[in-house]
Amino acid sequence: MLYLGCHLSFSGGFAAMAQTALGLDATTLQFFTRNPRGGSAKTIDPQDAEVLCALQREGKLGPIVAHASYTVNPCSANEATRNFALETMQDDLRRIEFIPGNLYNFHPGSHVGQGTETGIEQIIQTLNAILTPEQHTTVLLETMAGKGSEVGGRFEELRAILDGVTLGDQMGVCLDTCHVFDAGYNIKDDLDGVLAEFDRVVGLSRLRALHLNDSKNPIGSHKDRHEKIGLGSLGVETFARIVNHPALRHLPMVLETPNELDGYAAEIALLRAKAIDGKTGM
Ligand code: FE
Ligand code: FE
Ligand code: ZN
Repeated sequence: MLYLGCHLSFSGGFAAMAQTALGLDATTLQFFTRNPRGGSAKTIDPQDAEVLCALQREGKLGPIVAHASYTVNPCSANEATRNFALETMQDDLRRIEFIPGNLYNFHPGSHVGQGTETGIEQIIQTLNAILTPEQHTTVLLETMAGKGSEVGGRFEELRAILDGVTLGDQMGVCLDTCHVFDAGYNIKDDLDGVLAEFDRVVGLSRLRALHLNDSKNPIGSHKDRHEKIGLGSLGVETFARIVNHPALRHLPMVLETPNELDGYAAEIALLRAKAIDGKTGM
């Protein structure tokens, strides 16, 4: 089964979001747990959450991704900002327990001049404070473009965070194609080489989701500007290789391209057409 989907709005709740996804021929989806710029979260209706869980049990949807808001920065130089990140992520994890067995992705953060090592240490402290043995959600570190003082642009930084987390089994990685390319990993000409490097440093068993985005910029640009599939530096054949790659094709793949719903539907159709196993399974 190819789990292909896109980022959707949570404003109508879980059931509405799932229906939108199915209408796009999507088999996964991603949503922001709250306003992407931060702030309060909607109250969760357990019956609404159950509609989505039922679709997952029926196999109509695979694992889905809850994305933390961008304002969450667990390695800010400001203590109040770090505490806000901790409390927000803890609250997100509590809420996502209404849809057990899914993924919670966050940007490791920006160390804003404190240095990568301090940043990594603070991210580890935050994760060790919020993860619990009882939780049913896997928390994902997103690979970053290395823009500014972002942590997570190098696979080694992700490895260091994973090594510091006590409940490491609750953790994984989400690979963003635009971000890794902008960070300098050549997934266009050497996907196998990059995956071998990821396996050596992090371990492919840690890879739990993908963000499929083309990039507006060349390799190593550290920019993080997403482009529609096929219109950027990566090109459609890169994505054809990704959806067919034996190490990747079983993972949830989420489009975060600059699109409205019709554009997402077209990209999902394009990628399904490129996938040898389509949507019926291998
Ligand atoms: Fe992200
Ligand atoms: Fe992303
Ligand atoms: Zn991005």
